[in-house]
Amino acid sequence: GALLSAVDLRKSFGPTQALDGAGMDLHAGEVVAVMGPSGSGKSTLLHCLAGIVQPDGGEVRYAGRVLSAMPDRERSALRRTDFGFVFQFGQLVPELTCLENVALPMRLDGLRRGPAEKLAREWLDRLEVGDTADKRPGEVSGGQGQRAAVARALVTEPRVVFADEPTGALDSLNGERVMRLLVAAAKESGAAVLLVTHEPRVAAYSDREIVVRDGKSRQVGLAAAEPARS
Ligand code: ADP
Ligand code: ADP
Repeated sequence: GALLSAVDLRKSFGPTQALDGAGMDLHAGEVVAVMGPSGSGKSTLLHCLAGIVQPDGGEVRYAGRVLSAMPDRERSALRRTDFGFVFQFGQLVPELTCLENVALPMRLDGLRRGPAEKLAREWLDRLEVGDTADKRPGEVSGGQGQRAAVARALVTEPRVVFADEPTGALDSLNGERVMRLLVAAAKESGAAVLLVTHEPRVAAYSDREIVVRDGKSRQVGLAAAEPARS
C-alpha cells in the first residue's frame, strides 16, 4: 500500500474552500509532483499531508496510521523523526553557518557536536556546497542556500521530504541543479518526495504528476495504468 495518503480532504479558511475532496497517494521512495495554478490548493494539500494543517474532513494516512487523528504532540514528534521539509526560502537560521544549520536537527535530537557536524559536512559535500560550511546563509547565493536546505532536510534520513516550491526563488539553471541533487539524494536514501510546483520543468524531475484545480486533485500521465474504456 501507499506510505502516505490523502483521502477526500476538505479544508476551508473562512469562506474560501481550499480543498474540496482532494486525494492522492505517495509510495515509499517515489517522487510525486503536485501541480496546478496559484491558489488551487497545492500548499494546503501538502500542509495537510505533512500534519501541519488539520483537514475539516477526510483523512491523512501515514504508514498504517491515521495521521489526521493523532494528538498534536504525536504529530509533531512524527514530523521530526519521519519528515523533512524544503520551502521556497527563509528556512535557514541566519545567525548560524550553513554547517551549523545542517547539523541543527541532529543537535536537537541530542547528537554531540562532533559527529553531527561530521555528518553535516558529508551532506553539504553531497549537495555540492561543501564550500559554504563556514558561511552564513546571507553570505551564499540563493542556489547554494537551497542546496544547504536540502542537506538539512535529508540529514535525518526522513521517509518523506515535503518540498513546497523549492526552486521558486531561483533562476532556471539553479532550480534544475537543486532538483537534480534533491531527487538524486532522496533516491539514494530511499526517501519519498512530495514536490509542489507550478513549473513543468521542475515537475519533470518527478516520477509522476498530480494536478490540483479548485481544491480537487487528479492523477495525470498514467493512461497506460487506467482501465481501457469501451
Ligand atoms: P496554492 O498552493 O495552489 O497556491 P493554497 O493551498 O496556498 O494554494 O491556497 C488555496 C486557497 O486557500 C487560496 O485561495 C488561499 O488564499 C487560501 N488559503 C490558504 N491558506 C490560507 C490561510 N491560512 N488562511 C486563509 N486562506 C488561506
Ligand atoms: P503558494 O502560492 O506558493 O502556495 P501562498 O502565497 O499562496 O504561496 O501562501 C503562502 C503561505 O500563506 C501558506 O502557508 C498559505 O497557507 C498562507 N496563505 C495563503 N493565502 C492566505 C490568506 N489569504 N490568508 C492567510 N494566509 C494565507
